[in-house]
Amino acid sequence: MAGKHIRFDRFPGGHAKAAAFSFDDGREHDRRLVAMMNRHGLRGTFHLNSGFFGRDGYIRSEEVAELYAGHEISAHTVTHPFLEQSPSDQVAEEILSDRRALESLAGYPVRGMSYPFGTYDDRVVGMLPSLGIEYARTVKSHGGFVMPEDPLRWHPTCHHKEMVEAAERFLGSKPRFSRMELLFVWGHSYEFENDGNWELVDRVGELLGAREDVWHATMAEIVAYRKALGELRFSVDRSFVHNPSSLTIWFSVDGDAVCADSGATVKL
Ligand SMILES: [Zn+2]
Repeated sequence: MAGKHIRFDRFPGGHAKAAAFSFDDGREHDRRLVAMMNRHGLRGTFHLNSGFFGRDGYIRSEEVAELYAGHEISAHTVTHPFLEQSPSDQVAEEILSDRRALESLAGYPVRGMSYPFGTYDDRVVGMLPSLGIEYARTVKSHGGFVMPEDPLRWHPTCHHKEMVEAAERFLGSKPRFSRMELLFVWGHSYEFENDGNWELVDRVGELLGAREDVWHATMAEIVAYRKALGELRFSVDRSFVHNPSSLTIWFSVDGDAVCADSGATVKL
């Protein structure tokens, strides 16, 4: 009677662990940060205020596409207001105009953001789906490696000041039950400059970059993957599954990693 035991505990490649980095504000120090991340094979999501491009200390709009190639460009509003203190039509304008400006530079849909100042309220969160936003990062670090319960209130593991210690814990962790484990770091490139601790990027890069058992992902990729995971169609006895999504999806069957290619029906 009992069927096979399915567990959604794998990222692409069958890996149980993923690492993601989320940096705000698009300051000029992103140039150095991105170059360092590229050397180590780390990937990031960069939340940009399109209204500040070209200002003193900020990156220029003409360099956006090339600078962040291989990473993700994401919204952070046009002018960085406190959204919970803004009227709803202004919230909509700040987000949609930022998306529009960033999309024209990136050449792909921008459907994520981080909250300016990390602040929000239920009204703002409730508006996001109608503004085409699928995820929004907060600054409420929780120290853990869990996938977000609510991607519109996506709390990070830690600030980048703590990322080396967190990466060591992350790589050493063996959860009691197998599950998807995410190291999710947030911060600002200018803080490395202000604090004189750029070496943190190299240290975390040395820990994580060479690891082939870690999925280096952008936030949009994680959201898309989890959505596709939720679309898998299993037979009632779980002896086969259909994957209607455009992604190859991994999961475990009686503890073993299995994948279903896009569009495939797989016997388990
Ligand atoms: Zn910011």
